[in-house]
Amino acid sequence: VKPIHVIGGGLAGSEATWQIAQAGVPVILHEMRPVRPTDAHKTEGLAELVCSNSFRSDDAEQNAVGLLHAEMRKCNSLIMQMGDKHAVPAGGALAVDRDAFSDSVTKALHDHPLVTIERGEVAGLPPEDWDSVIIATGPLTSPALADAIKNLGGENELAFFDAIAPIVYKDSINMDAAWFQSRYDKEGPAGTGKDYINCAMNKDQYYAFIDALLTSEKTEFKEWEANTPYFEGCMPIEVMASRGPETLRFGPMKPVGLTNPHTNERPYAVVQLRQDNALGTLYNMVGFQTKMKYAEQTRVLKMIPGLEDAVFARLGGLHRNTFINSPKLLDGQLRMKAMPRLRFAGQITGCEGYVESASVGIMAGRFAAAERLGQSLIAPPQTTAMGAILSHITGGANAETFQPMNVNFGLFPPAEETDGRGRPVRGGDKKRALTSRALRDLDQWLAQQQRQAA
Ligand code: FAD
Repeated sequence: VKPIHVIGGGLAGSEATWQIAQAGVPVILHEMRPVRPTDAHKTEGLAELVCSNSFRSDDAEQNAVGLLHAEMRKCNSLIMQMGDKHAVPAGGALAVDRDAFSDSVTKALHDHPLVTIERGEVAGLPPEDWDSVIIATGPLTSPALADAIKNLGGENELAFFDAIAPIVYKDSINMDAAWFQSRYDKEGPAGTGKDYINCAMNKDQYYAFIDALLTSEKTEFKEWEANTPYFEGCMPIEVMASRGPETLRFGPMKPVGLTNPHTNERPYAVVQLRQDNALGTLYNMVGFQTKMKYAEQTRVLKMIPGLEDAVFARLGGLHRNTFINSPKLLDGQLRMKAMPRLRFAGQITGCEGYVESASVGIMAGRFAAAERLGQSLIAPPQTTAMGAILSHITGGANAETFQPMNVNFGLFPPAEETDGRGRPVRGGDKKRALTSRALRDLDQWLAQQQRQAA
């Protein structure tokens, strides 16, 4: 059997390599470190954790990333196996001894008879005789490969920085204060004239908000992230505010073309939120990319009328981060539509985080191995955490505003369960309904694969 090539031995590439080898298919893993370093990695180990040593919550009943852990364990994940083996005390979270973790992943792959590890950069499009390739080169993909991907996918479809505006769960927005309306009631190709959720401010509220923005604590850029041309194109709101108190009112908070139906007044300033996923459960705050510290974001953004009780699916940020416009470029099996021999996995697909990246590695590895063995493998259902991530990055997310995203319950179809009065369950009951459905559906997906293999 011809080998599959995996480029990048991080969280996603290590997991994909393991899944392919466990399926009985030979695999060559190309990792450029230590021949060529990145700005963040410090070792030559595979699956190096570049910053925090936490895989976040391990609660599979009430937390979406905890659910993802549970699903990955069911998929025989190498990352979870070694994470569990090298866990350190961290309350309800799974945190790991980073060196022991990375060493054990490296050893497991090194010792696997079907795995070959080659150290060296793949500095351009993979050679044509590599007929099945998984690109898992992460947020710090080497420039030569990034340029090749950009040329293939199109100038605007590969980003080198994320510019993340916060995302809010729609059901946490107070619609007694906010309202649906597009500016001038405009109807676009898919528009209804009521596409945005608007939150109005009067003059006092606006100036108090600007004050809070300016005095909030911000995170600093890393040395190697600073001085990029990125800033002018996609400026954080607090930087805009620092250029003058009216700047935001002439930018993302301009109040034109909108009337607040609750008061019949023209607002002084408006924050707009736009639907972010096909399910309509998530709304992003338009133009609100920010480097405020997370705790400060929740404090300051809750000053916006209508968002007092907002629950955030994602907070804002700006980082160096290489990722492709997956909803546009990839098919449902993570293959590049323009060149199907190339699959993508990990953070370069626009998922965010160690665990999410590894989970996309599981899926890419299984898809590639099944294809090599002449089997067809359907994608995990969207009701599972893995399927929810996959659906989001390969179609559910809005390609125009696509930015990296952690797993969260907003990516799942709503739960069917209702309370005693026939209303959809909420809070902890809703999460329990979603997680138990996910684990049941994942079991079915795995059982299907076992039947196929037999
Ligand atoms: P990586 O783990 O980065 O692996 C990619 C691998 O590809 C690397 O080993 C790299 O050397 C290799 N590579 C790149 N280009 C080539 C090439 N051309 N040829 C061969 N090999 C190549 N996530 C969290 O969950 N928690 C955090 O605290 C956190 N902090 C972060 C801090 C920083 C500074 C950065 C940049 C990212 C951080 N992330 C964090 C995101 C984190 O990087 C990802 O979650 C995760 O590492 C992504 O996994 P991956 O496999 O996609 O990429």
